[in-house]
Amino acid sequence: MESMEFGQITRRGFMLTSGGVLATLSAGAHAAEPTKERLILRNPPATGLGPRVPLGEKMSIKSIETFVAPGMCIVRVTTDTGAVGYGQTAPQLPKITALILHEQVARYFLGADAGDPDALALQAIEGEMKFPGSYICRAVGGIETALWDLHGKLHDKSVCEMLGGRPRPILAYGSSMRRDIKPRDEADRLKRFQDQYGFKSFKIRVGTPVGHDRDQWPGRSEELVRTVRGTLGDKTGIFVDGNSCYTPRRAIELGRVLEDNDVRHFEEPCPYWELEWTAEVERALKVPIAGGEQDTDLAQFRRMIKMRAVDIVQPDICYIGGIGRAYKVAMMAAEAGMPCTPHSSNLSLVTLFTVHLMGAIPNPGILEFTVESFPNTAQAAYSPVLEVRDGQTQIPGGPGWGVTINPEWMEKAEYRISTKA
Ligand SMILES: [Mg+2]
Repeated sequence: MESMEFGQITRRGFMLTSGGVLATLSAGAHAAEPTKERLILRNPPATGLGPRVPLGEKMSIKSIETFVAPGMCIVRVTTDTGAVGYGQTAPQLPKITALILHEQVARYFLGADAGDPDALALQAIEGEMKFPGSYICRAVGGIETALWDLHGKLHDKSVCEMLGGRPRPILAYGSSMRRDIKPRDEADRLKRFQDQYGFKSFKIRVGTPVGHDRDQWPGRSEELVRTVRGTLGDKTGIFVDGNSCYTPRRAIELGRVLEDNDVRHFEEPCPYWELEWTAEVERALKVPIAGGEQDTDLAQFRRMIKMRAVDIVQPDICYIGGIGRAYKVAMMAAEAGMPCTPHSSNLSLVTLFTVHLMGAIPNPGILEFTVESFPNTAQAAYSPVLEVRDGQTQIPGGPGWGVTINPEWMEKAEYRISTKA
Protein backbone atom coordinates (compact mmCIF):
# COMPACT_ATOMS: atom_id res chain seq x y z
CA MET A 1 0.00 0.00 0.00
CA GLU A 2 1.58 3.19 -1.16
CA SER A 3 0.89 5.31 1.90
CA MET A 4 2.24 2.73 4.33
CA GLU A 5 5.91 3.11 3.49
CA PHE A 6 6.75 4.96 6.66
CA GLY A 7 8.27 2.09 8.56
CA GLN A 8 11.48 3.89 9.43
CA ILE A 9 11.60 5.83 12.60
CA THR A 10 13.01 9.24 11.83
CA ARG A 11 15.29 9.25 14.83
CA ARG A 12 16.49 5.84 15.87
CA GLY A 13 15.70 6.56 19.45
CA PHE A 14 13.29 8.05 21.90
CA MET A 15 13.25 11.33 23.69
CA LEU A 16 12.98 10.77 27.41
CA THR A 17 11.34 14.02 28.34
CA SER A 18 11.66 13.53 32.07
CA GLY A 19 15.39 12.96 32.12
CA GLY A 20 16.36 14.53 28.81
CA VAL A 21 18.19 11.34 27.88
CA LEU A 22 18.25 9.83 24.42
CA ALA A 23 17.92 6.04 24.48
CA THR A 24 18.98 4.50 21.19
CA LEU A 25 17.48 1.44 19.57
CA SER A 26 20.00 -1.28 18.97
CA ALA A 27 21.29 -1.20 15.41
CA GLY A 28 19.36 -3.44 13.06
CA ALA A 29 16.55 -4.11 15.52
CA HIS A 30 13.14 -3.78 13.94
CA ALA A 31 11.25 -3.78 17.18
CA ALA A 32 10.46 -0.71 19.17
CA GLU A 33 11.65 -1.06 22.73
CA PRO A 34 8.84 -0.43 25.17
CA THR A 35 9.15 3.05 26.53
CA LYS A 36 7.11 5.59 28.39
CA GLU A 37 7.96 8.10 25.73
CA ARG A 38 6.72 8.50 22.21
CA LEU A 39 8.11 7.19 19.00
CA ILE A 40 8.81 9.88 16.47
CA LEU A 41 7.46 8.77 13.11
CA ARG A 42 7.99 10.17 9.69
CA ASN A 43 4.70 10.68 7.86
CA PRO A 44 2.42 9.50 10.64
CA PRO A 45 -0.69 7.82 9.23
CA ALA A 46 -4.12 9.39 9.21
CA THR A 47 -6.44 8.24 11.97
CA GLY A 48 -8.65 5.32 11.03
CA LEU A 49 -6.67 4.43 7.93
CA GLY A 50 -7.20 0.74 7.32
CA PRO A 51 -5.66 -1.72 4.89
CA ARG A 52 -6.99 -1.71 1.38
CA VAL A 53 -7.06 -4.75 -0.80
CA PRO A 54 -6.01 -4.17 -4.39
CA LEU A 55 -9.14 -4.93 -6.32
CA GLY A 56 -8.92 -7.65 -8.90
CA GLU A 57 -11.82 -9.37 -10.54
CA LYS A 58 -15.21 -9.16 -8.86
CA MET A 59 -16.00 -12.27 -6.91
CA SER A 60 -18.55 -13.19 -4.31
CA ILE A 61 -18.19 -15.52 -1.36
CA LYS A 62 -19.76 -18.88 -2.16
CA SER A 63 -19.00 -21.01 0.89
CA ILE A 64 -17.50 -20.86 4.35
CA GLU A 65 -16.25 -24.09 5.93
CA THR A 66 -14.92 -24.80 9.42
CA PHE A 67 -12.55 -27.53 10.56
CA VAL A 68 -12.58 -27.94 14.32
CA ALA A 69 -10.21 -29.92 16.52
CA PRO A 70 -9.22 -29.33 20.17
CA GLY A 71 -7.74 -25.84 20.41
CA MET A 72 -8.19 -25.01 16.74
CA CYS A 73 -10.87 -23.82 14.30
CA ILE A 74 -9.59 -23.42 10.75
CA VAL A 75 -11.84 -21.53 8.33
CA ARG A 76 -11.88 -21.99 4.55
CA VAL A 77 -13.54 -19.42 2.32
CA THR A 78 -14.28 -20.12 -1.37
CA THR A 79 -15.54 -17.62 -3.95
CA ASP A 80 -17.70 -18.16 -7.03
CA THR A 81 -14.52 -17.80 -9.09
CA GLY A 82 -12.91 -20.72 -7.26
CA ALA A 83 -10.49 -18.63 -5.20
CA VAL A 84 -9.73 -20.17 -1.79
CA GLY A 85 -8.26 -18.82 1.45
CA TYR A 86 -7.61 -20.21 4.92
CA GLY A 87 -7.99 -18.40 8.22
CA GLN A 88 -8.56 -19.24 11.85
CA THR A 89 -10.84 -18.11 14.67
CA ALA A 90 -9.39 -17.51 18.11
CA PRO A 91 -8.40 -21.03 19.15
CA GLN A 92 -10.07 -21.25 22.57
CA LEU A 93 -13.44 -23.09 22.70
CA PRO A 94 -13.39 -23.63 18.93
CA LYS A 95 -16.65 -25.63 18.75
CA ILE A 96 -18.66 -22.76 20.20
CA THR A 97 -16.94 -20.22 17.99
CA ALA A 98 -17.62 -22.34 14.89
CA LEU A 99 -21.30 -22.56 15.87
CA ILE A 100 -21.50 -18.77 16.18
CA LEU A 101 -19.67 -18.43 12.88
CA HIS A 102 -22.20 -20.52 10.98
CA GLU A 103 -25.40 -19.53 12.84
CA GLN A 104 -24.78 -15.83 13.32
CA VAL A 105 -21.89 -14.45 11.30
CA ALA A 106 -21.60 -16.30 7.95
CA ARG A 107 -24.70 -14.62 6.51
CA TYR A 108 -22.93 -11.24 6.42
CA PHE A 109 -20.22 -12.69 4.19
CA LEU A 110 -21.99 -15.24 1.98
CA GLY A 111 -22.87 -13.77 -1.40
CA ALA A 112 -20.96 -10.56 -0.63
CA ASP A 113 -18.14 -9.17 -2.74
CA ALA A 114 -14.92 -10.56 -1.27
CA GLY A 115 -12.89 -7.45 -2.20
CA ASP A 116 -12.91 -5.65 1.15
CA PRO A 117 -12.45 -7.99 4.15
CA ASP A 118 -12.37 -5.14 6.65
CA ALA A 119 -15.68 -3.67 5.45
CA LEU A 120 -17.35 -7.08 5.66
CA ALA A 121 -15.99 -7.59 9.18
CA LEU A 122 -17.39 -4.24 10.24
CA GLN A 123 -20.76 -5.02 8.68
CA ALA A 124 -21.01 -8.26 10.67
CA ILE A 125 -19.92 -6.70 13.96
CA GLU A 126 -22.26 -3.75 13.59
CA GLY A 127 -25.08 -6.02 12.42
CA GLU A 128 -24.71 -8.05 15.62
CA MET A 129 -24.61 -4.95 17.82
CA LYS A 130 -26.68 -6.67 20.51
CA PHE A 131 -23.98 -9.32 20.85
CA PRO A 132 -20.86 -7.19 21.20
CA GLY A 133 -17.34 -8.49 21.52
CA SER A 134 -15.94 -11.95 22.19
CA TYR A 135 -17.53 -14.72 20.12
CA ILE A 136 -18.80 -12.53 17.30
CA CYS A 137 -15.36 -10.97 16.84
CA ARG A 138 -13.63 -14.36 17.15
CA ALA A 139 -15.85 -15.79 14.41
CA VAL A 140 -15.52 -12.69 12.22
CA GLY A 141 -11.74 -12.89 12.57
CA GLY A 142 -11.80 -16.47 11.26
CA ILE A 143 -13.45 -15.40 8.01
CA GLU A 144 -11.56 -12.13 7.68
CA THR A 145 -8.17 -13.82 8.01
CA ALA A 146 -9.24 -16.39 5.38
CA LEU A 147 -10.06 -13.52 3.01
CA TRP A 148 -6.58 -12.02 3.50
CA ASP A 149 -5.05 -15.37 2.62
CA LEU A 150 -7.29 -15.59 -0.45
CA HIS A 151 -6.29 -12.12 -1.68
CA GLY A 152 -2.63 -12.77 -1.01
CA LYS A 153 -2.76 -15.92 -3.10
CA LEU A 154 -4.60 -14.15 -5.93
CA HIS A 155 -1.94 -11.45 -6.02
CA ASP A 156 0.96 -13.83 -5.34
CA LYS A 157 1.97 -11.76 -2.32
CA SER A 158 2.30 -12.44 1.36
CA VAL A 159 -0.28 -10.80 3.61
CA CYS A 160 2.58 -8.75 5.02
CA GLU A 161 3.24 -7.35 1.54
CA MET A 162 -0.48 -6.83 0.92
CA LEU A 163 -0.39 -4.60 4.01
CA GLY A 164 2.57 -2.63 2.69
CA GLY A 165 5.31 -4.43 4.63
CA ARG A 166 8.02 -6.85 3.63
CA PRO A 167 8.91 -10.35 4.86
CA ARG A 168 11.99 -10.24 7.08
CA PRO A 169 13.24 -11.57 10.40
CA ILE A 170 11.61 -10.05 13.47
CA LEU A 171 12.57 -10.18 17.12
CA ALA A 172 10.59 -12.52 19.35
CA TYR A 173 10.37 -12.78 23.11
CA GLY A 174 9.78 -16.00 25.02
CA SER A 175 6.43 -15.83 26.81
CA SER A 176 5.80 -17.98 29.87
CA MET A 177 2.20 -18.89 30.66
CA ARG A 178 2.89 -20.47 34.04
CA ARG A 179 2.14 -19.44 37.59
CA ASP A 180 2.32 -22.91 39.11
CA ILE A 181 6.08 -22.88 38.91
CA LYS A 182 8.57 -21.89 41.60
CA PRO A 183 10.72 -18.85 40.83
CA ARG A 184 13.93 -20.89 40.79
CA ASP A 185 12.48 -23.44 38.34
CA GLU A 186 11.03 -20.72 36.12
CA ALA A 187 14.33 -18.86 35.96
CA ASP A 188 16.22 -22.06 35.13
CA ARG A 189 13.90 -23.11 32.31
CA LEU A 190 13.90 -19.62 30.78
CA LYS A 191 17.69 -19.72 30.83
CA ARG A 192 17.54 -23.02 28.94
CA PHE A 193 15.20 -21.48 26.35
CA GLN A 194 17.56 -18.55 26.04
CA ASP A 195 20.54 -20.81 25.45
CA GLN A 196 18.63 -22.92 22.92
CA TYR A 197 16.69 -20.30 20.96
CA GLY A 198 18.56 -17.07 21.66
CA PHE A 199 15.61 -15.14 23.09
CA LYS A 200 16.78 -11.70 24.16
CA SER A 201 13.71 -11.09 26.30
CA PHE A 202 11.04 -13.01 28.23
CA LYS A 203 7.67 -12.41 29.83
CA ILE A 204 6.78 -13.87 33.20
CA ARG A 205 3.51 -14.05 35.15
CA VAL A 206 2.86 -12.27 38.42
CA GLY A 207 -0.24 -12.22 40.66
CA THR A 208 -3.22 -14.32 39.55
CA PRO A 209 -5.78 -13.65 36.78
CA VAL A 210 -8.38 -11.13 38.04
CA GLY A 211 -6.87 -12.06 41.39
CA HIS A 212 -7.99 -9.09 43.54
CA ASP A 213 -4.37 -8.58 44.64
CA ARG A 214 -3.83 -12.25 45.51
CA ASP A 215 -0.55 -13.86 44.60
CA GLN A 216 -0.25 -17.51 43.54
CA TRP A 217 1.36 -17.91 46.95
CA PRO A 218 2.53 -15.12 49.24
CA GLY A 219 5.67 -13.41 48.02
CA ARG A 220 5.93 -15.33 44.75
CA SER A 221 5.74 -12.33 42.40
CA GLU A 222 8.57 -10.32 43.98
CA GLU A 223 10.75 -13.40 44.36
CA LEU A 224 10.08 -14.40 40.74
CA VAL A 225 11.10 -11.02 39.33
CA ARG A 226 14.31 -10.90 41.38
CA THR A 227 15.24 -14.53 40.66
CA VAL A 228 14.66 -14.27 36.91
CA ARG A 229 16.59 -11.02 36.72
CA GLY A 230 19.45 -12.54 38.70
CA THR A 231 19.56 -15.63 36.49
CA LEU A 232 19.16 -14.02 33.07
CA GLY A 233 21.46 -11.10 33.78
CA ASP A 234 21.22 -7.39 33.04
CA LYS A 235 21.11 -7.61 29.26
CA THR A 236 17.94 -9.70 28.98
CA GLY A 237 14.64 -7.85 28.63
CA ILE A 238 12.03 -8.89 31.19
CA PHE A 239 8.33 -8.20 30.81
CA VAL A 240 5.73 -8.96 33.46
CA ASP A 241 2.03 -9.79 33.04
CA GLY A 242 -0.51 -9.22 35.82
CA ASN A 243 -3.54 -10.56 33.90
CA SER A 244 -5.92 -8.05 35.52
CA CYS A 245 -4.80 -8.89 39.07
CA TYR A 246 -4.27 -5.66 40.96
CA THR A 247 -5.79 -2.61 42.51
CA PRO A 248 -3.77 0.53 41.75
CA ARG A 249 -2.26 0.56 45.24
CA ARG A 250 -0.85 -2.95 44.98
CA ALA A 251 0.11 -2.54 41.30
CA ILE A 252 2.17 0.53 42.17
CA GLU A 253 3.74 -1.26 45.15
CA LEU A 254 4.80 -4.20 42.97
CA GLY A 255 5.70 -1.78 40.19
CA ARG A 256 8.49 -0.33 42.37
CA VAL A 257 10.03 -3.79 42.54
CA LEU A 258 9.70 -4.06 38.76
CA GLU A 259 11.46 -0.71 38.35
CA ASP A 260 14.26 -1.79 40.68
CA ASN A 261 14.76 -4.86 38.46
CA ASP A 262 14.66 -3.01 35.15
CA VAL A 263 11.43 -4.66 33.96
CA ARG A 264 10.60 -3.29 30.49
CA HIS A 265 6.83 -3.58 30.56
CA PHE A 266 4.07 -4.23 33.10
CA GLU A 267 1.13 -5.79 31.28
CA GLU A 268 -2.52 -5.61 32.33
CA PRO A 269 -1.74 -4.59 35.92
CA CYS A 270 -5.40 -3.86 36.77
CA PRO A 271 -8.69 -5.42 35.63
CA TYR A 272 -8.60 -4.54 31.95
CA TRP A 273 -11.96 -2.77 31.97
CA GLU A 274 -10.72 -0.42 34.71
CA LEU A 275 -9.03 2.08 32.41
CA GLU A 276 -8.92 4.77 35.10
CA TRP A 277 -7.13 2.40 37.49
CA THR A 278 -4.66 1.47 34.78
CA ALA A 279 -4.06 5.13 33.93
CA GLU A 280 -3.38 5.83 37.62
CA VAL A 281 -0.73 3.10 37.62
CA GLU A 282 0.72 4.43 34.37
CA ARG A 283 1.10 7.91 35.87
CA ALA A 284 2.75 6.60 39.04
CA LEU A 285 5.33 4.25 37.53
CA LYS A 286 8.32 4.63 35.23
CA VAL A 287 7.93 1.09 33.87
CA PRO A 288 5.86 1.18 30.63
CA ILE A 289 2.32 -0.18 30.98
CA ALA A 290 0.96 -2.55 28.30
CA GLY A 291 -2.63 -3.66 27.67
CA GLY A 292 -5.54 -4.25 25.34
CA GLU A 293 -5.38 -7.96 24.57
CA GLN A 294 -8.94 -8.60 25.80
CA ASP A 295 -10.49 -5.60 24.09
CA THR A 296 -12.48 -5.90 20.89
CA ASP A 297 -13.97 -2.43 20.57
CA LEU A 298 -11.99 0.12 18.56
CA ALA A 299 -13.53 2.96 20.55
CA GLN A 300 -12.19 1.42 23.75
CA PHE A 301 -8.71 1.41 22.23
CA ARG A 302 -9.17 5.03 21.22
CA ARG A 303 -10.06 5.91 24.83
CA MET A 304 -7.21 3.84 26.25
CA ILE A 305 -4.71 5.62 24.02
CA LYS A 306 -6.17 9.09 24.48
CA MET A 307 -6.15 8.87 28.27
CA ARG A 308 -2.71 7.22 28.20
CA ALA A 309 -3.88 4.28 30.28
CA VAL A 310 -1.17 2.28 28.52
CA ASP A 311 2.16 2.98 26.83
CA ILE A 312 2.02 -0.10 24.58
CA VAL A 313 -1.16 -1.45 22.91
CA GLN A 314 -1.68 -5.20 22.50
CA PRO A 315 -4.64 -6.10 20.26
CA ASP A 316 -5.07 -9.83 19.57
CA ILE A 317 -5.83 -10.35 15.87
CA CYS A 318 -8.11 -13.31 16.57
CA TYR A 319 -9.96 -11.73 19.52
CA ILE A 320 -10.53 -8.35 17.90
CA GLY A 321 -11.99 -9.62 14.63
CA GLY A 322 -9.14 -9.85 12.18
CA ILE A 323 -6.17 -8.19 10.57
CA GLY A 324 -7.95 -4.99 9.54
CA ARG A 325 -9.15 -4.14 13.04
CA ALA A 326 -5.81 -4.95 14.66
CA TYR A 327 -4.11 -2.87 11.99
CA LYS A 328 -6.35 0.09 12.81
CA VAL A 329 -5.43 -0.15 16.48
CA ALA A 330 -1.74 -0.21 15.51
CA MET A 331 -2.30 2.95 13.44
CA MET A 332 -4.06 4.70 16.33
CA ALA A 333 -1.10 3.82 18.51
CA ALA A 334 1.37 4.96 15.85
CA GLU A 335 -0.32 8.31 15.64
CA ALA A 336 -0.02 8.66 19.41
CA GLY A 337 3.63 7.57 19.24
CA MET A 338 3.11 4.22 20.96
CA PRO A 339 4.46 0.78 20.03
CA CYS A 340 1.98 -1.96 19.16
CA THR A 341 2.86 -5.42 20.44
CA PRO A 342 -0.05 -7.66 19.44
CA HIS A 343 -1.07 -10.41 21.85
CA SER A 344 -0.22 -13.85 20.44
CA SER A 345 0.04 -16.27 23.31
CA ASN A 346 -0.19 -19.64 21.56
CA LEU A 347 1.24 -21.40 18.55
CA SER A 348 -1.93 -21.67 16.53
CA LEU A 349 -2.09 -19.47 13.42
CA VAL A 350 -2.47 -16.35 15.57
CA THR A 351 1.30 -15.99 15.95
CA LEU A 352 1.68 -16.39 12.18
CA PHE A 353 -0.95 -13.70 11.52
CA THR A 354 0.85 -11.50 14.01
CA VAL A 355 4.26 -11.70 12.32
CA HIS A 356 2.67 -10.61 9.02
CA LEU A 357 1.03 -7.64 10.73
CA MET A 358 4.18 -6.68 12.62
CA GLY A 359 6.12 -6.64 9.37
CA ALA A 360 3.75 -4.03 8.01
CA ILE A 361 3.17 -1.55 10.83
CA PRO A 362 5.50 1.35 11.63
CA ASN A 363 5.52 0.74 15.37
CA PRO A 364 6.01 -2.99 16.06
CA GLY A 365 7.14 -4.07 19.48
CA ILE A 366 8.67 -7.51 20.02
CA LEU A 367 6.71 -10.61 18.93
CA GLU A 368 5.14 -12.67 21.72
CA PHE A 369 6.19 -16.30 21.20
CA THR A 370 4.99 -18.76 23.81
CA VAL A 371 7.53 -21.08 25.38
CA GLU A 372 4.86 -23.58 26.46
CA SER A 373 5.00 -26.92 24.65
CA PHE A 374 7.80 -25.50 22.58
CA PRO A 375 8.59 -26.99 20.11
CA ASN A 376 4.88 -27.45 19.68
CA THR A 377 3.33 -30.67 18.43
CA ALA A 378 -0.10 -29.00 18.38
CA GLN A 379 1.05 -27.16 15.28
CA ALA A 380 0.13 -30.27 13.28
CA ALA A 381 -2.58 -28.25 11.52
CA TYR A 382 -0.16 -26.36 9.25
CA SER A 383 3.33 -26.24 7.88
CA PRO A 384 5.92 -24.93 7.88
CA VAL A 385 5.69 -23.81 11.49
CA LEU A 386 7.39 -20.68 12.75
CA GLU A 387 10.81 -21.26 14.26
CA VAL A 388 12.92 -19.09 16.52
CA ARG A 389 16.64 -18.85 15.93
CA ASP A 390 18.92 -16.38 17.62
CA GLY A 391 15.83 -14.73 19.14
CA GLN A 392 14.25 -14.04 15.76
CA THR A 393 11.56 -15.58 13.57
CA GLN A 394 11.05 -15.10 9.87
CA ILE A 395 7.91 -13.63 8.31
CA PRO A 396 6.96 -16.16 5.60
CA GLY A 397 7.31 -14.77 2.11
CA GLY A 398 4.99 -17.16 0.24
CA PRO A 399 1.57 -16.04 -0.97
CA GLY A 400 -1.12 -15.39 1.65
CA TRP A 401 -0.02 -16.58 5.06
CA GLY A 402 2.74 -18.61 3.43
CA VAL A 403 1.70 -21.93 4.99
CA THR A 404 -0.25 -25.03 3.94
CA ILE A 405 -3.05 -26.43 6.05
CA ASN A 406 -2.30 -30.10 6.56
CA PRO A 407 -4.90 -32.25 4.66
CA GLU A 408 -4.61 -35.16 7.13
CA TRP A 409 -5.35 -32.80 10.01
CA MET A 410 -8.39 -31.46 8.13
CA GLU A 411 -9.72 -34.95 7.44
CA LYS A 412 -9.83 -35.73 11.14
CA ALA A 413 -11.41 -32.40 12.12
CA GLU A 414 -15.10 -31.79 12.77
CA TYR A 415 -16.52 -30.29 9.58
CA ARG A 416 -19.34 -27.89 8.77
CA ILE A 417 -20.16 -25.79 5.70
CA SER A 418 -22.38 -22.76 5.10
CA THR A 419 -23.19 -21.84 1.52
CA LYS A 420 -24.94 -19.02 -0.29
CA ALA A 421 -28.53 -20.12 -0.69
MG1 LIG B 1 -1.30 -10.70 28.72
